[in-house]
Amino acid sequence: MGLRTGEQYVEGIKYRQHAAIYVMGKRVTDVTTSPFLKPSVLAFKATFDAAFEEDTRELARTYSPIIGEEVNRFNSLHTGPQDLVAKVKLLRKLSHKTGACFQRCVGWDALNTLYIVTKKLAEKGKKAYHDNFMKYVADVQRKDLALAGAMTDVKGVRTLRPSEQPNPDAYVHVVEERDDGIIVRGAKANITGAAVVDEVIVMPTRAMTEKDEAYAVSFAIPLDSPGVKVIVGRQLNDARRLEGGDIDGLPYMFNHEGLIVFEDVFVPWERVFLYRDWREAGVLVEIFSSYHRQGYAGCKSGLGDVVIGAAYNLAKQIGIADKPHVQEKLTEMVFLNETMYSAGLAASWEGRKLADGPGGFWVNPMFANVTKHLVTRFPYEIARLSHDIAGGILGTAPSEFDLKNPEIRQLVEKYLQGVPEFTAEARLRMIRLLENVSISAGYLIESVHGAGSPQAQRISMQRLYDFEIAESIAKYLARLGARPADKRVEPHKKSDAER
Ligand SMILES: Cc1cc2nc3c(=O)[nH]c(=O)nc-3n(C[C@H](O)[C@H](O)[C@H](O)COP(=O)(O)OP(=O)(O)OC[C@H]3O[C@@H](n4cnc5c(N)ncnc54)[C@H](O)[C@@H]3O)c2cc1C
Repeated sequence: MGLRTGEQYVEGIKYRQHAAIYVMGKRVTDVTTSPFLKPSVLAFKATFDAAFEEDTRELARTYSPIIGEEVNRFNSLHTGPQDLVAKVKLLRKLSHKTGACFQRCVGWDALNTLYIVTKKLAEKGKKAYHDNFMKYVADVQRKDLALAGAMTDVKGVRTLRPSEQPNPDAYVHVVEERDDGIIVRGAKANITGAAVVDEVIVMPTRAMTEKDEAYAVSFAIPLDSPGVKVIVGRQLNDARRLEGGDIDGLPYMFNHEGLIVFEDVFVPWERVFLYRDWREAGVLVEIFSSYHRQGYAGCKSGLGDVVIGAAYNLAKQIGIADKPHVQEKLTEMVFLNETMYSAGLAASWEGRKLADGPGGFWVNPMFANVTKHLVTRFPYEIARLSHDIAGGILGTAPSEFDLKNPEIRQLVEKYLQGVPEFTAEARLRMIRLLENVSISAGYLIESVHGAGSPQAQRISMQRLYDFEIAESIAKYLARLGARPADKRVEPHKKSDAER
């Protein structure tokens, strides 16, 4: 099949037989009709619809040599820089369609990571995991499955290794080995789209030592597996979508994260991609996080476009769009937004091949880390500037129900309106859009912590930069040393994945 419509995706996740999904303390059996989760379903659905819509059809589809058909790009493997560029562009464009995180890129990055990691294991003589993975990815592509990528463990005491934790389940681990598979226990935190996916791909979250080998495990299971529990997280303004309105809470698009708990879950051997290979865990994390850091250039610049567009419109609505300080602020927002995007494109064009075959093209790790590090800061500044332009009403606007109440409607219309060509409803709609996007977990908190906290990028950048070479360049120019013979243009070291 290779390509499902959005409707087919929604049908596919309708009924959960085994997995227990909890939303605000209550169990939900049909996630597609839950008023809380519905916006998230719609945002995920947009990734399927994109493959059929005229403006994204080309970007959202690609030919897969693995199954010999067109597939949704979200399930594709990267073979060259053009694939990574298309990824960033697709993510930017999809942000314009959703105004929210559409939740499907983590699973995509997991597929590309596991292709490389299992291929490297095969080259070392452990072929079974790559065979498992290739069968799995073919199945994912044929069925056009929706995947979650689950790397982040709950991690208990941050300074202790998995095997040293007071809670032995603070990291997902193997508790039993059977002839037909393994039993795993633990929980993955902050998992995007946790309740609305077909499958979840689990990966280790940090480098490990021999003592941690039970924690060095990667596998995929249907979300609807016995022993799986999902506890959906909350976000700011999320209860607004339960009010039955259509302005205040953005009921049409949103995303969610959740805690996925594995209570002694069975995983058949053919779905295991890494097993007790603790030496591979660190490289796996490096490959995955670099892919994920590159991708943020797309989705966050796309959301930035929404914030810039909303600020521009609100400036028009109150008659200040042509004022020099507003123009200056809008220009600054553009500069910050395009900087994140450019860095992601650089990380794509300057990528490198880590493994042969129908996948294995990786990003430039330095530029990917730079991209994500910009993303930890710039959306906050873009949001701040948009709030400056929008005015205090952004934090004090009446509700849509005031506008709908005949007793006070006229008052709200009269006093909310600015420039007469815009209605009060138009102002309220734009205010709510800006409020919901610019202060959202997806635009702010995810920008800081998604794909690793800021410090993780700083550690990577420090490790990847060759200070010795830079020093030798300086020494030469200060007439303190010979001209360095190094051919490298950028003083970058090889990453662990390239060694
Ligand atoms: C909106 C959102 C969506 C996400 N989606 C996904 C997803 O789909 N899949 C997924 O796998 N993950 C996801 N994540 C998780 C994300 O990758 C993690 O949040 C991130 O890696 C940081 O981990 P943490 O949240 O446990 O932070 P913590 O580890 O608790 O970090 C808090 C602070 O402690 C510091 N710190 C941590 N450990 C140490 C240490 N040993 N020494 C010194 N300082 C330390 C950090 O630098 C940071 O400043 C998502 C996160 C968010 C916010």
